Amino acid sequence: TASSTQHHVDLTESRAAHNYHPLPVVLAHGEGAWVTDVDGNRYLDCLAGYSALNFGHGHPQLIAAAETQLRKLTLTSRAFYNDQLGEFAAELGDLVGKEVILPMNTGAEAVETALKVARRWGHEVKGIPAERGQIIVMDGNFHGRTTTIVSFSTDEEARAGFGPFTPGFVVVPYGDAEALEAAINDETIAVLVEPIQGEGGVVIPPAGFLGRVRELCTQHNMLFIADEIQSGLARTGRTLAVEHENVVPDIVVLGKALGGGILPVSAIAANHDVLDVITPGSHGSTFGGNPLAAAVGREVVAMLGTGEFQDAASRLGARLTERLNGLGDAVVTVRSRGLWAGLDLDPNVMSGRDLSVALMHRGVLVKDTHGSTVRIAPPLVASESDIDLIADSISESLADA
Ligand code: PLP
Repeated sequence: TASSTQHHVDLTESRAAHNYHPLPVVLAHGEGAWVTDVDGNRYLDCLAGYSALNFGHGHPQLIAAAETQLRKLTLTSRAFYNDQLGEFAAELGDLVGKEVILPMNTGAEAVETALKVARRWGHEVKGIPAERGQIIVMDGNFHGRTTTIVSFSTDEEARAGFGPFTPGFVVVPYGDAEALEAAINDETIAVLVEPIQGEGGVVIPPAGFLGRVRELCTQHNMLFIADEIQSGLARTGRTLAVEHENVVPDIVVLGKALGGGILPVSAIAANHDVLDVITPGSHGSTFGGNPLAAAVGREVVAMLGTGEFQDAASRLGARLTERLNGLGDAVVTVRSRGLWAGLDLDPNVMSGRDLSVALMHRGVLVKDTHGSTVRIAPPLVASESDIDLIADSISESLADA
């Protein structure tokens, strides 16, 4: 009933902090690319948990892996070994071409881990004096919500009131290789980049930029840290988005879909020369590398190993992009790679929030970002008719505006 929706909205708004502004839909069930609300209405999920649900809701293989492990062993802490973590580390490392991984839980924790590893590497390997050194980051970045990470956010809403901030970061315009080069000095430790900026609105850097980041990092003995938390794990049609540019970062940061949409699983992957700066006692997490997370992560890695999800992203993404490009003048820009698109609307026609609400009433769930931008990222298990439904629903919503 409508009152049931209202009950959950009111209870959430009165008893949970207001750190989000959700659409007024209360979800109770999900299967594949589709979710159902408490009143039985069905919606195509085109946010997919900010790409944590690349495999869709309740994928049978992932549920089976989780169920099996749930009954065996869920948590050991890293005070002891467990029989899942080593296998997960080897399988994930092989998938992304790195020797070692360091498992954490959320994306922000993995980014923090990469920053700590880079700083220690800067001091111990590169020889930068203690308490010195900078990490170069990009304008418009999104890497999470911890105090250090918001220290180098360029979004005032994400920062206001949270200082004092962590020093040691330098911001350059995203995609500007010359500005990046100009920002480098003897004490630069690393460059932290999203290969495609997801929260920024699916912003794709100019071709060659990531290759130039790689060259500069090699030339100046700096670490290239690629935050693939949202762009990675098949969303763009490749296992990692950096593969589109044939670029190999020093540290790959993964999260979101690594937990199969079931539980938080994140990790950084690197080679020994980098990750061996971490020693017992210098970093950790009670839940990082737990056997339940590792078992689900292993199934995720196995599913990615077939290539079928990457192929689906390419195939469905081509169809989506073609349809979105035909939507007319109200859509000012379409940026897309794989099954991941950002649409900039003409703000005189409709705001991103208004389009999100209009689509919700047509059974399609999306989320706006930055005023007039809407991001479309359905699970990679969506069907071709699902893709057509998205385009048709946007078209109808714009026509009604
Ligand atoms: N890095 C990127 C590129 C992200 O898109 C996100 C989440 O949107 C994060 C980091 C933070 O992940 P989490 O919300 O799991 O901390």
